[in-house]
Amino acid sequence: MAFIPYSRQQVSEEDIAAVVAVLRSDFLTQGPELPRFEAAFAQRHQVAHAVAVTNATAALHLACLALGVGPGTRVWTSPNSFLASANCALYCGAQVDFVDIDPRTRNLSVPALRARLEAAATLGALPRVVIPVDFGGLPCDLPEIRALADEFGFAVLEDASHATGARLHGRPVGSAWADASVFSFHAVKIVTTGEGGMVTTPDAALAERLRLLRSHGMVRDAAQLRSPPEGPWVYEQHLLGWNCRMTELQAALGLSQMQHLDTAHARRAALAERYDGLLAALPLIRPARLADRVSAWHLYPVEVDGARTDRTRAEVFAALRAADIGVNVHYIPIHTQPYYRELGFRPGDFPAAEAYAARTLSLPLFPQMTHDEQDRVVEVLQQVLR
Ligand SMILES: *Cc1c(COP(=O)(O)O)cnc(C)c1O
Repeated sequence: MAFIPYSRQQVSEEDIAAVVAVLRSDFLTQGPELPRFEAAFAQRHQVAHAVAVTNATAALHLACLALGVGPGTRVWTSPNSFLASANCALYCGAQVDFVDIDPRTRNLSVPALRARLEAAATLGALPRVVIPVDFGGLPCDLPEIRALADEFGFAVLEDASHATGARLHGRPVGSAWADASVFSFHAVKIVTTGEGGMVTTPDAALAERLRLLRSHGMVRDAAQLRSPPEGPWVYEQHLLGWNCRMTELQAALGLSQMQHLDTAHARRAALAERYDGLLAALPLIRPARLADRVSAWHLYPVEVDGARTDRTRAEVFAALRAADIGVNVHYIPIHTQPYYRELGFRPGDFPAAEAYAARTLSLPLFPQMTHDEQDRVVEVLQQVLR
């Protein structure tokens, strides 16, 4: 039987044709496809601005810089995320810290955030930026986090890398509440450009700053130059930027991928609902469903419920892998990584994230997954857990 991966990209003939057309065109980079992709992404997310970059890690880095993160500032994020959610702050020379998760949503806990903010306020140690993560595609508690941002004066940088197409209170993530939201187009993510990332923001000045940071801090537009130009060749560097530009090949692929976002999302949601039903009798804690939000279903993470089975997560993982099923674990809490321990973090610092990480498994979920493949996953789980 064929291996079932935990995720698999979906690339259509239309996607391939769009990329080939770029290869035959005049622009491989800095052409018309990039602004088209950005405009389509912004429109889909009901937000004024979208800035595409090389990957979501660069998007987080540049967004931190644009939001004023630097030496002497603090950034807080969720320990239940990919390394990039925290590393981006360290790139800027800032201090990073974590806020524990809500065991139900597995996202950054709002009560824990409030408690930490109140303590930090008395010490004059408030964060400049908080990076909540839409884990697995389930939107985090953005309105509540926005209210805390306004009360305590920090910026919200939403890591929506898992959440392209997710909705909260009827609005797409990336549209409101956060000062900026970051999306990933890595091959395992919902929309892919191979590697790629996007920042959305309602703030025109922030978008402008992101565009500068993406391309060497360089200005060519005559209206923006600080000195009258001698001729049209003149460019000025206004700040220290990078080269984080997305190619035309990637932008054309991303634009084409946006066409099947809704059908892919519907397929993911249907498979998740089918898992919910098929796994109901097993000692597994399934992903939360909340009335006010719709997950993008990037992941279907379950927890092996130690109160109802003696089987360990490692045993269940091994049984699935032995049956050629590409189960995975998201995530090892960032603060328990050797690099972060050297910064002073310890196991035990964020117990809810650690307890979750000790029990979780991400089951295969991707739009092309068949019911037969899903049944195979469920059968192995039944064998090992009964
Ligand atoms: C994938 C991912 C990133 C990094 O995305 P890249 O595009 O691979 O740089 C950041 N945060 C989260 C939560 C992710 O899952």
